[in-house]
Amino acid sequence: MIADSFGRVHDYLRISLTDNCNFRCFYCMPEEDYDFTPASRLMQPDEILTLAKIFVEQGVKKIRLTGGEPLVRKDAAEIIAELGKLPVELVITTNGTRIAEMLPTLIAAGIKSINISLDTLQPEKFFMITRRDLFHQVRSNIELLLQNKITVKINMVVMKGLNDNEIKDFIEWTKHNPVQIRFIEFMPFSGNKWTSNKLFSLDEILATVEEDFTVLPVKAAPHDTAKSFMIPGHEGSFAIISTMTAPFCSTCNRMRLTADGKLKNCLFSDGETDLLTALRNKEEILPLIKASIWSKKKELGGQLGKHFETLDADSIVNRSMITIGG
Ligand code: SAM
Ligand code: SF4
Repeated sequence: MIADSFGRVHDYLRISLTDNCNFRCFYCMPEEDYDFTPASRLMQPDEILTLAKIFVEQGVKKIRLTGGEPLVRKDAAEIIAELGKLPVELVITTNGTRIAEMLPTLIAAGIKSINISLDTLQPEKFFMITRRDLFHQVRSNIELLLQNKITVKINMVVMKGLNDNEIKDFIEWTKHNPVQIRFIEFMPFSGNKWTSNKLFSLDEILATVEEDFTVLPVKAAPHDTAKSFMIPGHEGSFAIISTMTAPFCSTCNRMRLTADGKLKNCLFSDGETDLLTALRNKEEILPLIKASIWSKKKELGGQLGKHFETLDADSIVNRSMITIGG
């Protein structure tokens, strides 16, 4: 069992397969020229499997693959197939561009739920956010997943003045489609030019939806990081991830392994533990994992206070989101 000093048991591991991506979402990548980590410094398939097995032996029940864009990695199929053999719930977060060609691999690995990032339903705005003209490809891949009865959750990062005016359009989408929209509060990471006035909060999102729809809360599962809601008569549902204004740290069970093999005990931790170098040096890994998680801070990596209005994003010591693995 892996636990921290606050008694939180950690049984959910998020593994970043790469910090490379075929999109350039401005809120995720640093603005300056960004060099992706060379392949030799990334965890290799056998190293990912070895580390994943250590976590699973310690009680990890769920593994999420993320990145960067996990499906741009050339050996993604091999890695997914191997992780699919472990006794865990395997899920993935993707920008949705490579779903069509990867679908047989994903299904064969037992993946039943996929989170797809989509911040707008407008092709021009999609291009503005991602710098790629692939809106229709992502939309048709979402349809493909639904046809194959795979659970689809849509991650929509809400940014004031950019896409908050589309919240109701996303809710309309849930009327005849079994998708769950996850509205995510915009978070600060290295180089993403976060300011508090771009944040559209949980309260604001909820108030916007309630202007036109009857909203009913759904009881949360034990480690949910989202507050879930339903709208009577809608096939789909929605949730709000309010990391900035109402964080979920007290029930956190998450650990993050970056693509270069560093363990982060929190999305906002200022430190990390180098598991990959230790593995390559044939050192013992488990004591490193246990010490890292034991040292986890109570809330938000100890770096973000409750008052996001006065938060100076430049004072946060962290990586960019694309190099952490969201
Ligand atoms: N490339 C994949 C994707 O886009 O889904 C997986 C990696 S991406 C870093 C994981 C999630 O983090 C995405 O849903 C993305 O929207 C979210 N994300 C990235 N930067 C963020 C930020 N600054 N605030 C909130 N969510 C963010
Ligand atoms: Fe790539 Fe996902 Fe980041 Fe967009 S959010 S740049 S798709 S990793």
